[in-house]
Amino acid sequence: MPTAPSLRRTKIIFTLGPASQTEEMLEKLILAGADVARLNMAHGNHEWTRMVIRRIRAVSKRVGREIAIMMDIKGPEIRTGDVDSPIELKVGETFDFTVKPGDREGGEEIRSVNVNYKDIVNDIKIGDIVLVDSGLMRFEVLDKQDNHIRCKVLTPGALSSRRHINLPGVKVNLPAFTEKDRLDTLVGIEEGIDFVALSFVREAQDIVQLRKFLTDHNSKAKIISKIEDQTAIANLDEIINETDSLMVARGDLGIECPLEDLPVIQRRAVKACFNAGKPVIIATHTLESMISSPVPTRAEITDVANAVYEKADCVMLSGETTVGKYPLECVQTLDRIARRIEQEGPFVFAEPTFVKGDKLKLLHAAVQLAHQMPDTGLLTFTRQGNMAGGLAALRPNLAPIYAMTNSVETLRQLRLLRSVEPFLLEHQAHPNRTVEGALALLTKTGHVKVGDKLIVATDMITAERLVDSIQLRVVI
Ligand code: PEP
Repeated sequence: MPTAPSLRRTKIIFTLGPASQTEEMLEKLILAGADVARLNMAHGNHEWTRMVIRRIRAVSKRVGREIAIMMDIKGPEIRTGDVDSPIELKVGETFDFTVKPGDREGGEEIRSVNVNYKDIVNDIKIGDIVLVDSGLMRFEVLDKQDNHIRCKVLTPGALSSRRHINLPGVKVNLPAFTEKDRLDTLVGIEEGIDFVALSFVREAQDIVQLRKFLTDHNSKAKIISKIEDQTAIANLDEIINETDSLMVARGDLGIECPLEDLPVIQRRAVKACFNAGKPVIIATHTLESMISSPVPTRAEITDVANAVYEKADCVMLSGETTVGKYPLECVQTLDRIARRIEQEGPFVFAEPTFVKGDKLKLLHAAVQLAHQMPDTGLLTFTRQGNMAGGLAALRPNLAPIYAMTNSVETLRQLRLLRSVEPFLLEHQAHPNRTVEGALALLTKTGHVKVGDKLIVATDMITAERLVDSIQLRVVI
């Protein structure tokens, strides 16, 4: 009888790029336990997108482990325009950001760059801070006219073409779902992506707009809202309420918010998702040093451990797997840290507030039972993922959640959820047959053995009626 390795509860997302997109490397990453591949549409064109999605599907099929695909759309983004050669900025220098190229009063002595966002002059105030190139260059706004903002350079650097601009604390008046996002998402829908990650979500309405677009185009992709700025933090509860899941996008958050607030925001977001029963992803700089080093820093190990202690659903790799030298080692490192920390307490968690309605209360009872009976697993049957999602949201301490679904789309979406190990299984007309089929499959794959106990949350037939039930089954 094969023995399946013990399951990791925390899921791993990796971002696709030159370091990870070959068939050979994809196979290694999938077999090493990566759960979700992320396509960062800030960099990919449509030809590349179709090519890598098809490749991931083919490799998944070949190795017998379907992983999920997340399309991370760029969202509203402010950028500098083109420059002939990098502008070397000096501390204290006066510098202009212009919105109408060629229409300036600064003359030759004040250097400038164009910006792709004309409302910057309306939205920004004198004294505000402009950050360029992931916060590497810092400017203070001294003055503004209708065609430019005039700034003082606080932190110098070399300004090259099309650098990302952040305006901390400024309510930016840009569409949440841009034309580029629309076109990218259409390609994703055609290729059957499982998740769309919406960048720079600011309010619930942004998610409603994307959801309508997905529904209008018959897509069942789930929405991951990326919180990246102060407006999103102010509207956190309404965003969590509307979204399917949340990503704590620490890259931009660390630029848009005071950096010492970052751990506070992360903890608050994870807790709010726990209370609302929504999955949460901790992203960016997870193992940053491993872009060039085969081992992580001690601080990175502790940061990942912290996300696991918080019972986040996923940890995410970005540059580590797009351009890093050690993509496989990164996935293996996350796997090792997660497995080790998941065995540690404290396991006492406050009761989440979303447990309302009979079905959820039943699932809650199943998880409580699992807590009282160490070494048991949970087993459920799920067409659209709701039963498994409910159990995962209740954060069982150690019990794995074996989720049997007859839909490969659902199976892939379940890859995002903490503790869930999804399987493809045809559901039989009689629920008891389906349970027996599941026990046989789990035994065959080595996940359970004779004598093991499983808590089964499922429908059963009594007097020819389907009723919700919790059963304690012993594998025979
Ligand atoms: C982030 O900012 O942390 C993030 C995940 O977003 P992106 O990589 O798209 O900037």
